[in-house]
Order: sequence, then structure tokens, then C-alpha cells
Amino acid sequence: MKFGGTSVRNDQAMRNVAGIIRSSLSKKPVIVVSALAGITDLLERSLGEALQQDNRAMLATVKKIRIRHTTMIDALFEDTSSHESMKYFIDSEIEKLRVLLGALVTIRVDIPNLRHAALSIGEMLSSRILNALLRETGIDSAFVDAREFMITGDNEDGPAPIPDEIRKAAGAIFPPLMKKHETVVTQGFVAATLGGVPTTLGRNGSDHSASLLGAALGAREIQIWTDVNGILTADPTIVPFARPLDLMTFDEACELSYFGARVLHPAAIQPALKKGIPVRVLNSHHPEESGTLIVDRSEENGPSLIKSVAYKENITLITIQSSSIFLAPDLLGRFLQEMAHYGKHVYAVNKSATRLSLTIENTTNIDRVLEKLPLGGEARIESEKAIVSVVGSDVQKNPQVTWQILKLLHRAGIYPELISQNTSQISFMFIINQNDIKKTVRLLHKTYIEPHWT
Ligand code: ADP
Ligand code: ASP
Ligand code: MG
Repeated sequence: MKFGGTSVRNDQAMRNVAGIIRSSLSKKPVIVVSALAGITDLLERSLGEALQQDNRAMLATVKKIRIRHTTMIDALFEDTSSHESMKYFIDSEIEKLRVLLGALVTIRVDIPNLRHAALSIGEMLSSRILNALLRETGIDSAFVDAREFMITGDNEDGPAPIPDEIRKAAGAIFPPLMKKHETVVTQGFVAATLGGVPTTLGRNGSDHSASLLGAALGAREIQIWTDVNGILTADPTIVPFARPLDLMTFDEACELSYFGARVLHPAAIQPALKKGIPVRVLNSHHPEESGTLIVDRSEENGPSLIKSVAYKENITLITIQSSSIFLAPDLLGRFLQEMAHYGKHVYAVNKSATRLSLTIENTTNIDRVLEKLPLGGEARIESEKAIVSVVGSDVQKNPQVTWQILKLLHRAGIYPELISQNTSQISFMFIINQNDIKKTVRLLHKTYIEPHWT
């Protein structure tokens, strides 16, 4: 059971989580918890302030982080014996953070492992609080530091998990604890190299942690508890009445999360998929709702061809027009390599003899990357773009859908660029101007999803 930051944002939410765990104890759950909502952002901000030598701002941010946690323990543990020890624990973690930030102020260089150590503090705090709350309410819960089993490489561009090592380490640690205790609490996101150097699984990586651990332990189900009723037909901030989907395939969920539905980290699906473990997305504020079940394969396609609409903002479209593109067969490969170096995804690519179009996540390094490449012509760089993607198992079995969508958008004055149908046959995506996101998502939702609602 993975509880995201939105599920532990305050003391009331944390109590809810404890209640949900209590009612699942017969299934012997292992708990993976994220930092309180917004804390990793604050930790990231404090690192930036340290690097800019802005001591005052940095200390103010650290204070905010401390207050969020002390307010929570004051509400949860008032008058209990846990209060003093939790306060001591929070203060010691905050002190650790101050030391790490102080080192950054002095050395003035960003060191990835120091960054990972500082960012991990959010999860170290939330997991200790949850464990103490469970124990305080009479649940016999054990605590494990994820750095003992969530093993990654030490790659500067983003440490990758090593499933075999995770299986070995988790296999040795968890079964004896689960025999002895009712549940075990650990952190999402937090990881370490085999040598014990702190790493993380990247922003929003707790879903990935849960899936890796669930796969390592051969879980019956991996539950992702969040603040909405499952995977919805669209982002509820754009379509507030979007509805949850009962069932999705791993592929559909993966496409959807890759193209922006932040409810699930795209990497979270892979470990579960390999082991055939179903993933369920549930709402911790409404545990009675059935949520979305993600399975390997499904014969049921649901009422509509298109299941959900996703979008991803902050995209840059690069168009290189040059007669020498076909003379430089390694141009694309070199571009992809450079982008990987900066940890940036390249989404859709379109190549002809004289034109190369690419969509990437916004990055300040693009000029530096392009300077290194033999373009043989001008590159047009347009930021403020977005990717919109429609997902559903049958999207491409019905080729007329794609031109219908293009016609619909054209009539609405939206002119998509770099249209791409991928070979997985389950999604169709295109690039639009960022300020057309709302209009586009709402139009597609209204035309292709809502008419099928009963
Ligand atoms: P958590 O703290 O649980 O990890 P996230 O903020 O990462 O939560 O993800 C949940 C949020 O994802 C929801 O509150 C919702 O606003 C957003 N979201 C975007 N697209 C979708 C979608 N298609 N289905 C469900 N939620 C979505
Ligand atoms: N706390 C981390 C983040 O905010 C990981 C997660 O919540 O999934 O990115
Ligand atoms: Mg999340």
C-alpha cells in the first residue's frame, strides 16, 4: 500500500491512512509512504537557496519544513509518550538538513548524492510519524529504512534501481519482520547504492518504489492510494467532473502517465507488469470507492473508444530544416544522447530527408546541445508547447478517429503539429500551443468520452 503526499498532507489525512491500514491488516500489508504534500518541493527550494548563498531564505524554508512536521505531531501525539521522541527525531532530521545545506553554501557546487540525502528527509520524517501513529493506536508496526533494500546504481543523470539487488535485500529483510509484526512501514522515493550512498528514485518516484517492492516481495496487489477516485477520464483540474475508469491495461496506464496524468509515475507500471501483479489506484479520502484496477490484459474495453485524455505542458518543439539531414545519419542519435545526459525526455520525433522535428521537455541547455551538433541549417526552437494524448485500447483500430479529431480541432481553431500515432496502437498524440490545453482537453473529453456516460 503506497500512500502519496496528498494522502498524508496533514494530521487528519494521516489519521485516515492509519484507519485504512488498520482495516487491511488481515492482508499483511507493507506500507510505502511519501513525504507530506509539498515538502519535497520545499526541500528542493532550500537546496536552490543554499546554492545561491541566500542564507536567510534558506533558513526560512527549513523553518517551514520543521513547522509542518511539528504541527502534525502536536496534533497527533499530544499528551502521549511518543510526542517527546518524535519531536527529538524531527529536530535531529532538521539538523541533518541544516548541515547538508551549510555544506552546499560553503562548497557552492551541486553534488548529486548530497542533494539525494537532503531530499530524502521528507520521506524519513513522514514514515517515522506514520509508524509512531500506528503503534500509538495499538497496531504492531515495524519500521525499515528504504536505504537498506532499495538499491540503485550511482548514475549522476538519475540513479536506476537494480531489481535483482532489491529482491535479494528486501527478501532478506521483510519476510521475518512480516511474520513477527502486523505491518511494516518504509519510505517511497528513498534509495541508496549497494555501498550505502544515498540516492532517490526521482521526483514522484514513490509509486515506482511501491511497485519495485511489491514485485520484489511477490505481493498479491499493489495499491496506490492518492486523493482522487482512481485514474480519471481527464485531469480533474481541467475537467472537474471527470470520472474514474474501473479497468485499464498496463499499456494504457503507462501511456497515460507518460503523457502527463501525474496520478501514477510511468515507471511504476513496469515492475508490476513483469510480475503480473495487478495495480489498484484508490482514494484515501474515500476508501469505500473501488478505484481503478490496472491489469495486464483485458477483453473489456469499456463504453468509449477513448478512455482518457492527458496533457503535458512545458514542452519545446525544435524544427531543423536542412538539406544535410539525410547526410548525417547519426544526428538524431547524438541529439538523444545529449538530452539523456541532461535527464530530459524526448517525446515525439519526425524525420524526413530535409526536416527533423523533435519534442522535448523544456530545458535551459538546448542552445548548448544544438551547438554541438552538425545541423547544417537553422533550428527553430518554440517553447510554450504542450503534448495532448488520447488513450484507449482501440484508438488505432479505428483510423477514422484520428482524422475526426484533427477535423474537430481545426474547426475549433486549434492547429496540432507533429501528429504521432505510436505503434502500441493505444494512443494518439499531437503538439499544441500551451494556452490551448484547456480548450483542447475539454473538447476531446466532451466529444469522445461524455456521450458514452449513462
Ligand atoms: P500523490 O500525492 O498521491 O502522489 P499526485 O499529486 O502525484 O498524488 O497525483 C494525484 C493527482 O493527479 C490528482 O490529484 C489529480 O489532480 C492529478 N491527475 C492528473 N491527471 C489525472 C488523471 N487522468 N486521473 C487522476 N488524477 C489525475
Ligand atoms: N516526495 C517525492 C516527490 O514529491 C516522491 C513522491 O512523492 O512520489 O517527488
Ligand atoms: Mg504522485
